[in-house]
Amino acid sequence: MKLTDKAVQTAHEDHFGQPGKLFRAPARVNLIGEHTDYTGGLVMPMAIDFQTIAVISPREDKRLAFYSHNYGEETIFDLKSLERGRQGHWSDYPAGVAWSLWKEGIRFGGFNITLSGDVPLGAGLSSSASVEVAAAMAILSLSESTLPLAKLATLCRRAENEFVGAKSGIMDQFVVAGAVAHRAMMLDTRSLEFDLLPLPDDVRVVIANSMVRHAVATGEYGNRRDEVEAGQAVLQQECGVALLRDATLADLGACRDRMSPESFARCRHIITENERVLQARDALLESDMPRFGELMVKAHTSMRDDFAASCEEVDTLVEIALRQSGCIGARITGGGFGGCTVNIVKASEAEAFVSAVQREYAQATKIEADCFICEPADGALALAKKGGVA
Ligand code: ADP
Ligand code: MG
Repeated sequence: MKLTDKAVQTAHEDHFGQPGKLFRAPARVNLIGEHTDYTGGLVMPMAIDFQTIAVISPREDKRLAFYSHNYGEETIFDLKSLERGRQGHWSDYPAGVAWSLWKEGIRFGGFNITLSGDVPLGAGLSSSASVEVAAAMAILSLSESTLPLAKLATLCRRAENEFVGAKSGIMDQFVVAGAVAHRAMMLDTRSLEFDLLPLPDDVRVVIANSMVRHAVATGEYGNRRDEVEAGQAVLQQECGVALLRDATLADLGACRDRMSPESFARCRHIITENERVLQARDALLESDMPRFGELMVKAHTSMRDDFAASCEEVDTLVEIALRQSGCIGARITGGGFGGCTVNIVKASEAEAFVSAVQREYAQATKIEADCFICEPADGALALAKKGGVA
């Protein structure tokens, strides 16, 4: 069901007995550049038209009340207990943002905040960054401060890394805050410089959810990071690179004997993926979508074989997608071991594509895949500028 501003305003008033100010943040999908953002590499996400709405109003008693309309649940605690730390609860995300802002010297009094989102949770579309950035925008309004994009994204990331305790790069928070409609964003996660790139009007981005999330996902994500970091440490020592981002395939080849076969393969994925992101940028600048599609397919193969982070269901979903006439490219997106695929499809065939993929995936796996036809959406800052604040 589509979220409306009015419904969330009403939920806030019903729950807290006072009206509030409204802020929004979208979700995101990564077109190419997977697992590159924690070694200073390149990514190319875009915001999508799912959102989290945050409605906020001040309260006098220096308490912070977080109400999630999705969960129908409230958590409340004293401002001075912001250091309470992780509770293993959804409220860690917005409370972590309040903690991160406070730690940065941004001061606010008590507040009531209502959060409501239509982002599928835990599907790899970053409902977490969406909820963080929406909450940050809302809390900042109370302290009458604004933050530049890089700072906003960095503080939200700190909430997720240090408060929630989820290891993640900067990509999600950065694009959720800073995206611009009709554009994909190529982000250099080291310098935080970015390019906004046009996607042609005659294609759609179709997200297909495999609906599986393998139990190994969390542990394996950590293992992959360890394998990558071990490989990076060898490259730093032997080749003098600052980050894996700076290494070439020749450097990696020269260090092959000094790292595990796993680290070698994971690093090869990242080095080739960074190169594919650069080529994907050129393809978009030249409106060469067939080239863009080829790069997506190569990126999928690399995620599957070198990074060993795909799974049977997602591979099936990609194979089915690539058989469809309107499909230009398809790959796994997100951390891996399940989750979603991202597909570039001719606009005129997008609906037929969705029906065929759902039918064939159900035949192959007995699972009904959720599919979403998307276009690049505005991030939270652009939404606020265009009057997203009510
Ligand atoms: P993803 O970011 O891929 O959706 P995560 O596990 O990183 O998955 O984040 C999902 C978590 O974010 C949810 O389990 C919940 O704790 C929190 N969250 C997201 N949206 C909301 C919301 N509207 N209300 C409360 N918590 C939310
Ligand atoms: Mg997340």
